[in-house]
Amino acid sequence: MDRAVIFLGPPGAGKGTQAKELAKLYRVPHLSTGDMFREHVSLGTPLGEQVKPIMARGELVPDSLVLKMVRERIERPDCSHGFVFDGFPRTVAQAQYLSVLLRQNGYRPALVVHFALDPALVLKRITGRRMCKVGGEIYNIYERPPKVDGRCDNDGGELIQRPDDREEIVAPRLEAYEKLTEPLVSYYQRLGRLHDVDASKSIEEVRRRVLEIVRNSR
Ligand code: AMP
Repeated sequence: MDRAVIFLGPPGAGKGTQAKELAKLYRVPHLSTGDMFREHVSLGTPLGEQVKPIMARGELVPDSLVLKMVRERIERPDCSHGFVFDGFPRTVAQAQYLSVLLRQNGYRPALVVHFALDPALVLKRITGRRMCKVGGEIYNIYERPPKVDGRCDNDGGELIQRPDDREEIVAPRLEAYEKLTEPLVSYYQRLGRLHDVDASKSIEEVRRRVLEIVRNSR
């Protein structure tokens, strides 16, 4: 792949599921800043202690903390053939910093895949989302239920709801998306980097469209 791919879109649009698959297919790292922060929280690191209350409120972590973590991560050797970002960048400042970082590290400008989803569907997607406690596999009780209620198809792990997927935390998360992340859509559009995906389609259809975009990109 030899490039950075960015998955942009509201929470619940299916970015995580698709980003993991694309990364696996191209054998490059899947870099979810949300997963990285959740790991820091569960390990109780100093960064984890700092971001825990922010995430619990459904707000964005300050750019300075995100950018330091991302820089350290993409400078690791396993990123040398590209990577897939999921949930980053989320502000125009993060996007500007990323373009400098990519240039400094010898990468081409990022390819941006935009998951467009009707706001009415976003709430259903988020509140229906369940995650395997063991392997992180994502389900949706409405659209993609597990074979056995509450258990992961892959490893039988318990399926849990992310604390910030509860209905009362969703509103501030969507507000943060609209105010801070949505401006990135026109930012990347102006740069001619944006490719749209209709995220209301099935996982299979979205997968096909994502692959088409990546294969046709230069
Ligand atoms: P996600 O799993 O991508 O929905 O992220 C979960 C939470 O982690 C977000 O609600 C933010 O609090 C935080 N977070 C993840 N990525 C970023 C980012 N790029 N900038 C700021 N906060 C982030």
